[in-house]
Amino acid sequence: MGMTPKDVLAMIKEHDIKMVDVRFTDIPGTWQHFSLPASALTEDDFVNGIGFDGSSIRGFQAINESDMLVVPDPNTAFIDPMLKIPTLALICDIRDPITGEQYTRDPRFIARKAEEYLRNTGIADTAYFGPEAEFFLFNDVRFDQGSHFGYYFLDSDEGIWNSGADRHGKNLAYRPRYKEGYFPCPPLDTLQDVRSQITLNMMAAGIEVEVHHHEVATAGQCEIDMRFDSLLNMADKLIKYKYIVKNTAREFGLTATFMPKPLFGDNGSGMHCHQSLWKEGQPLFYDPKGYALLSDTARWYIGGILTHAPALLAICAPTTNSYRRLVPGFEAPINLVYSQRNRSAAVRIPTYSDSPKARRIEFRAPDPTCNPYLAFAAMLMAGIDGIKKRIEPPPPLDVDIYELSAEEKAHIRGTPGSLAESLDALEADHAFLLEGGVFTSDVIETYLDYKRSRELIQVAIRPHPYEFFMYFDA
Ligand code: GLU
Ligand code: MG
Ligand code: MG
Repeated sequence: MGMTPKDVLAMIKEHDIKMVDVRFTDIPGTWQHFSLPASALTEDDFVNGIGFDGSSIRGFQAINESDMLVVPDPNTAFIDPMLKIPTLALICDIRDPITGEQYTRDPRFIARKAEEYLRNTGIADTAYFGPEAEFFLFNDVRFDQGSHFGYYFLDSDEGIWNSGADRHGKNLAYRPRYKEGYFPCPPLDTLQDVRSQITLNMMAAGIEVEVHHHEVATAGQCEIDMRFDSLLNMADKLIKYKYIVKNTAREFGLTATFMPKPLFGDNGSGMHCHQSLWKEGQPLFYDPKGYALLSDTARWYIGGILTHAPALLAICAPTTNSYRRLVPGFEAPINLVYSQRNRSAAVRIPTYSDSPKARRIEFRAPDPTCNPYLAFAAMLMAGIDGIKKRIEPPPPLDVDIYELSAEEKAHIRGTPGSLAESLDALEADHAFLLEGGVFTSDVIETYLDYKRSRELIQVAIRPHPYEFFMYFDA
């Protein structure tokens, strides 16, 4: 960290870099890029930016005001381990050339503003995030987008999806049993080397990795956990992680997907987010007298997350597919409560360690289709709102929620049942996001409009394969 433009130019020389790739994230959370010959990059580009047409970027400018600038952040420079031609990648901020201001719809700018807002409140100076983004690896995913059925086909070495033959056409018999992917050794786990290679590539790109493992689902589900980092840095790393996972998988002839629920009847992919606040190097979430060793600050932070959860999920579980994951029976959260045990609770308190530094909360509802800049910023804003208003969460629930009586269950709020519900919740409840100008009304409106017109309605107007099963002969 602390790289200057001069350092970046020196790095280009030292490693004989041929190309510079500049990257930024659109509103839905996909990395965008363009390249210039390394010899063309100047110190001035870090100040005045490099021009591009913003009109075709999802959620960005209208065509009549399309000229935009990317301004590379020298701290983000890394040599891209996935490319053959020596390429230095730089993550960029976006600026409007007319006003000279940072672009308010740039997700990275929103993340920066959230960090600044936290400092301005005086509550804390740093918010740490540790996302656990799960994903599936498939041999083959075939779409037939032209047909009315929108049919797709998934195939995994490990699963029930290929009637026993692996991708070389041989039947080698060992397969993880249903929901028993977590976590027998090879040969049941056929993805060990793939995950190790992903991990090595991540490390080469400057990401500290803690563990990697197979996940619960039968067919090819994996998780690789990064060491926690501050909000903006972690959002950058999460985008990088997804890029490296997808590209490494491709080198192995596999396809990675972060879709939350690719398979009916098996576990989905979540992105549990561990979070904590720190001030002057001291953790703020620990109190030996509190439930699960949590401080008042931590409990109010949870209160904010749970109170705003329906609205938050429009950003943290932002796809129509997200709500096929948030159903009972697959370790995904369905209850807006907190607990140190219960994995069906939206907020879990990990109990692996009783050290003050390890005290954190785990919000389990997010999934890896979210835009991490927006999602981390939104969660932090909800937490800050909880602390400022001293919002008490409902009492912790350590019993098995499935065992409660109907009357007891009636008091428990649930996660929204659909993207439509979450978007409505965000429309009704987003004042907490506008505090300190972190999100703007324009961003919320653009986001709602994008999600409704480009995703929600698009799914709603298409016949679903299961409708043929139920209604074809009606
Ligand atoms: N895959 C599960 C989810 O959808 C979680 C499994 C776990 O606890 O890591 O959240
Ligand atoms: Mg997991
Ligand atoms: Mg977890």
